[in-house]
Amino acid sequence: MAVATESRGSEDRASAHANQEKRWVLSDFEVGKPLGRGKFGHVYLAREKRSSEIVALKVLFKSQLKQSQVEHQLRREVEIQSHLRHPNILRLYGYFYDQTRVYLILEYAAKGELYKELTRCKHFSERRTATYVASLARALIYLHGKHVIHRDIKPENLLVGVQGEIKIADFGWSVHTFNRRRTMCGTLDYLPPEMVEKAEHDYHVDIWSLGVLCYEFLYGVPPFEAKEHSETYRRIVKVDLKFPLKPFVSPAAKDLISQMLVKSSAQRLPLHKVLEHPWIVQNADPSGVYREGRSV
Ligand code: AMP
Repeated sequence: MAVATESRGSEDRASAHANQEKRWVLSDFEVGKPLGRGKFGHVYLAREKRSSEIVALKVLFKSQLKQSQVEHQLRREVEIQSHLRHPNILRLYGYFYDQTRVYLILEYAAKGELYKELTRCKHFSERRTATYVASLARALIYLHGKHVIHRDIKPENLLVGVQGEIKIADFGWSVHTFNRRRTMCGTLDYLPPEMVEKAEHDYHVDIWSLGVLCYEFLYGVPPFEAKEHSETYRRIVKVDLKFPLKPFVSPAAKDLISQMLVKSSAQRLPLHKVLEHPWIVQNADPSGVYREGRSV
């Protein structure tokens, strides 16, 4: 099956080619326990019978996709995600459908949702945050190199692999971009000023979201949170960035966040400079993996 992550030579390439032609059906899988529930269906642990590979099978109901008019968005998501190969991006191995459902064959992220971990811990350490931010910066550099902007980087869209590596999982709002875009999408808390103001935007939006994420990992709440949507909107447009006294966060971490959360999109710190920032260099584990109980 197409779940081999690395091609190991001509034999593998030949089988990979054959796999591209393969039409999957539900009986190719042993379906196990439910992993979670999304807006349009359920996700199950599954084993592909021939290869015994473990995957996550996402089952979406066509009726719900149609009702919410997201078929086009799903097609785009599948088209984009199936072509991506990066250790910090969840693989989409393939898809199939029957009369009522669409099935996505996804890489299984054994440690589940990062959002739950953040809720459990309240906030992450600087070392853990820096490790995640560096991994995400590398994944975003890869995406932007392929002319893909994600546009919806937030804890709910991040999963954790078996080693503790972070994986960007949801490409529902991503786009292939050769032009500048105007669509308002994503969650308000993570949107940059140019998107809330419905101005043109480009790949710089993902740098802003990474800054918001870095803040939320360290403080446990997003920086522009407010009771009312309109107030969040106002705070984003003004870049009303405040650093609470507790929990303690080092000046170097605040410096990095301040350089990513810049109103003028072209002035945001480029992603390769994020990787070179002293706070990242000092704190991020070079393996890209955060393991509990280690010094990181
Ligand atoms: P979603 O429909 O993508 O929001 O997925 C619903 C829930 O299923 C998520 O919140 C996760 O808990 C779980 N889930 C989704 N995809 C995976 C995966 N690839 N590996 C492990 N758990 C997953």
